[in-house]
Amino acid sequence: MTAEILLSPPDIGALEESYVLRAIRSGWVAPAGPELAAFEREVADRAGTRHAVAVSSGTAALHLALLTLGAGPGTVVLVPTLTFVATANAVAYTGAEPVFVDCDPTTGNIDIGLLAELLNRLPAAGERIAAVIPVDMFGACADYTALLPICAAVGVPVIEDAAEALGATYRGRPAGSFGRVAALSFNGNKIITTSGGGMLVSDDGPLLDRCRYLATQARQPVPHYEHTEIGYNYRLSNVLAALGRAQLARLDEMMARRRDLRERYAKLFAAVPGVRLLGDHDPGANCWLSVVVVDPDRAGWHAAELAAHLADRQIETRPVWKPMHLQPVFASARSALTGAAARLFEQGLTLPSGSALTEPQIGRVLDAVSAFLEARR
Ligand SMILES: *Cc1c(COP(=O)(O)O)cnc(C)c1O
Repeated sequence: MTAEILLSPPDIGALEESYVLRAIRSGWVAPAGPELAAFEREVADRAGTRHAVAVSSGTAALHLALLTLGAGPGTVVLVPTLTFVATANAVAYTGAEPVFVDCDPTTGNIDIGLLAELLNRLPAAGERIAAVIPVDMFGACADYTALLPICAAVGVPVIEDAAEALGATYRGRPAGSFGRVAALSFNGNKIITTSGGGMLVSDDGPLLDRCRYLATQARQPVPHYEHTEIGYNYRLSNVLAALGRAQLARLDEMMARRRDLRERYAKLFAAVPGVRLLGDHDPGANCWLSVVVVDPDRAGWHAAELAAHLADRQIETRPVWKPMHLQPVFASARSALTGAAARLFEQGLTLPSGSALTEPQIGRVLDAVSAFLEARR
C-alpha cells in the first residue's frame, strides 16, 4: 500500500517546532503577545506595506476589509467568479451583493474588459459599488497595471485577495501591495500556514486600526468593557503567530521547491498538444498550485481522465475552483460572463504542488503523469 500523495500538505519541521515551543515557554499563550507584533511587522515587510493586522483567517481579513470600506446592504461588490468561495462569502456576510465577473482565459484572473464595463454601467444605473476584489489566482497576480487605473477613475476601492499569493510579485512589486488593502491567508494548504490564520496588509494606518478594533470585539479603549458597535473575535493568537514566523523565514525556500516542481511539470507537458500550465506567463508567480489546462479537442483526452489515472495511484488532484455563478448558493446572483471560467473548471486540473513533497513522491507523480501521456500518444 503506497501512501497517498496530497495536493499541498503543510510543510512543518524543526524550525516551526522550536518557534512554537519558544512562544509557549515565554508565557505568551493568551491572545496577543510579542510574536504577534513581530509576525505582523515581518509580513508587512514581505508584502511591501507599512501596516498589518493578523487575524484568524483569510476570510475574516476579507470581511473586515469590506466592512471598513462600507460594503453593506444596498451596495454591490465585484468579485471574480473563478475563486474560492471565501471571497464571495465575505461579501455576503456584510449584506452587500456580490456580482461575479468572468476571468481571462489565459491567466484565470479577473477579465479587465468585463470589469471596466461593469464599473461604468452599474453606477450609471444608480448602483453603488463598494469595492472590487481581484484575486491573485493560484499565486499569480491580477493585471494591476490595467485594473488599478480603471477602479481609481470611478473612485471604487480595490481589496486585493492575495490569500494564495504571498511571496509573488507583479512587475517587481509584491503581492499584497496593490489596492487600498489586501487579505492574506495562512490556512493549512496555503504557501505558508499557521494551521489557520490570515492577515490584512495596507499602507492605510487608520483603515487597519479600525480593522484591528473590529477584530477585537470593537472594544473601546477604556479600563472596563465598553462597546458602541458590533465587533468580532477575529484576532490571531500569539502561539500561531510564532508558527507563522518560522514559516515566513522559510518562504523563499518553499517557493523555490514549488517552482522547481512546476518547471518539471512544464517539461513533461511541453510537447503535448492542447495542454498548458495556467499562469506560466508569469515569472513572478509564487507557484502555489500548478494547474494543467487540457483542451480535449486538441489533446485527445480530458483532464478528468488524467485525474482518474492519478487517483488510481493514490495521487490527489483537484478540479480548478468551480465558478461562483455555477454554485447553488449563488444561483440568483448577477454575473458578467464569457464562459472562460466555466471552461477552466472543465479543463483545469490542480496537480500535487506542495513544498513538503519528498523527492520519491515527486518521482512517483512525474512517472505516473509520463505513463499516462505515453499511453495516449
Ligand atoms: C484560501 C482563500 C481564502 C480564504 O482564506 P482562509 O484563511 O481559508 O479563510 C480567500 N480567498 C482565496 C482566493 C483563497 O484561496
